Amino acid sequence: MPEWKKLMRDSLRRGADVAELSPEEQAEVDEVRKLYPFFSNAYYTGLIEKKDDPIWKQVIPSAQELEDPDLYSNDALEEDGEDSPVKHLTHRYPDRVLFTVTYTCAIYCRFCTRKRKVGLNPVPPWHEMEAVFDYLREHTEVRDVLLSGGDPLLLSDAQLDWILTELRSIPHIEILRIGTKLPCVLPQRITPELVEMLKKHHPLYINTHFNHPRELTPEAEKACALLADAGIPLGCQTVLMKGINDDVEVMKELMLGLLRMRVKPYYLYQADLVTGTSHFRTDVQVGLDIMEGLQGHITGFAVPTYIIDAPGGGGKMAVGPNRLVELNEEEAVMRNYEGKTFRYPARAGSGVPEGTLIQDYV
Ligand SMILES: *Cc1c(COP(=O)(O)O)cnc(C)c1O
Repeated sequence: MPEWKKLMRDSLRRGADVAELSPEEQAEVDEVRKLYPFFSNAYYTGLIEKKDDPIWKQVIPSAQELEDPDLYSNDALEEDGEDSPVKHLTHRYPDRVLFTVTYTCAIYCRFCTRKRKVGLNPVPPWHEMEAVFDYLREHTEVRDVLLSGGDPLLLSDAQLDWILTELRSIPHIEILRIGTKLPCVLPQRITPELVEMLKKHHPLYINTHFNHPRELTPEAEKACALLADAGIPLGCQTVLMKGINDDVEVMKELMLGLLRMRVKPYYLYQADLVTGTSHFRTDVQVGLDIMEGLQGHITGFAVPTYIIDAPGGGGKMAVGPNRLVELNEEEAVMRNYEGKTFRYPARAGSGVPEGTLIQDYV
């Protein structure tokens, strides 16, 4: 049996499996997992150094999950609403779709946006997958299919090969993307055989998900190297979370570490308004301050785009430190990473503004 299957088989799933917890705390975990599943493997749990550290918080159930007021939603992004034309598919943006190919994960993140539906259902039955392929064949405007879940790389190589082959047979689909957390939480799944199969389906992109520099282990690095060597461009989607990575120095270390593993930071997400996750949320200002601390200070390639995904299906919106202080008929006034402001002519025909470019120092 391959190592990753052994890790899955021997995973922690009950309060009693977490030795560091008192019997009362173990009972709490068992209460939480009635509503939100608990599952973690020895590799990822092995990254925990002490109780309540940034790795622990991401994976060990907490009684706080049951204390959320009714302010939040079970489907904060309305993925199952009117943007879902067929089961398992969300078609929100004109040219691309989100296709949920499984509802199983290697670990169940306590902060998950799809907390309401992961872990409870298996892989969609094949006839429902066929309905998705039919929809995509008819919708010639779709040029980008994003496989998500659950974790698509938990499907067998053969199942995933079938899905990718079906999608590849649709002429208007140009690129395929896979969203997977496995390089972070079960890097042993990235086997040479899996990668050989994936590379038949180029252009294929993978977005992975790391939230803390301690997740950047030699095993994770090896998994990313296998994928990158197969010509698969790698991105990372990070979630901003209280007590985990809401700090400029931690975020810098994470982003620079990802680049060294040939992973391009793609998005930094403001945590969604999902029931059972409010203890992870930070003020929007925290995200803006972190972006201010990254942009201009480190390699541009290491800087993700900060995204707020609007509740009610509004979609992703990029927000960031405002560099444009003012734009009027004559000039644009801009603020650089050091806080200095500069003037730039607003009109294409004009030259350098009178006097110095540097207006003042803040
Ligand atoms: C995030 C998302 C996508 C992909 O968005 P990009 O900004 O292109 O990465 C597509 N569909 C849905 C429903 C999404 O939430």
